[in-house]
Amino acid sequence: MSDDVHEGRCTCGELRYRMTSRPLFVHCCHCRWCQRETGTAFALNAMIEADRVVLQAGQPEVVDTPSASGRGQRIARCPRCKVAVWSNYAGAGDKVRFVRVGTLEQPDRLPPDIHIFTTSKQPWVVLPSGTPAVPEYYDSKLMWPAESLARRRALSGAR
Ligand SMILES: [Zn+2]
Ligand SMILES: [Zn+2]
Repeated sequence: MSDDVHEGRCTCGELRYRMTSRPLFVHCCHCRWCQRETGTAFALNAMIEADRVVLQAGQPEVVDTPSASGRGQRIARCPRCKVAVWSNYAGAGDKVRFVRVGTLEQPDRLPPDIHIFTTSKQPWVVLPSGTPAVPEYYDSKLMWPAESLARRRALSGAR
């Protein structure tokens, strides 16, 4: 098994999945919407091609949920314990999943590549100086590694 494979699951274990490569990019989002959805200070999402997230057990229940953009997000949850494992946002479409890093067996392997929406960051959260941080959103062309940009181009080309 490759070092880039990441296993994840819900809390009750009915839902199990595998990320088959490293993600495109990892967001730590400090927006108020993420704070409300998680009940905590931020959300940690690994963006990855949907076909690189392979279900190992169970079938997620998809819940339509309002989002800041007004276009909504679809949150995949365990049908039994209701823990959220990933989301699809209208903006990125069905081909990119935002996997909740905290549901991985080894979440420590995927620290944030960027902190976003720091304007609403809770004041006690102190960001490390080595990681980019932006007040709201950013231009991925400027921030993503070339390999991730190429993977995303491949995604929009192949349909
Ligand atoms: Zn569960
Ligand atoms: Zn957010």
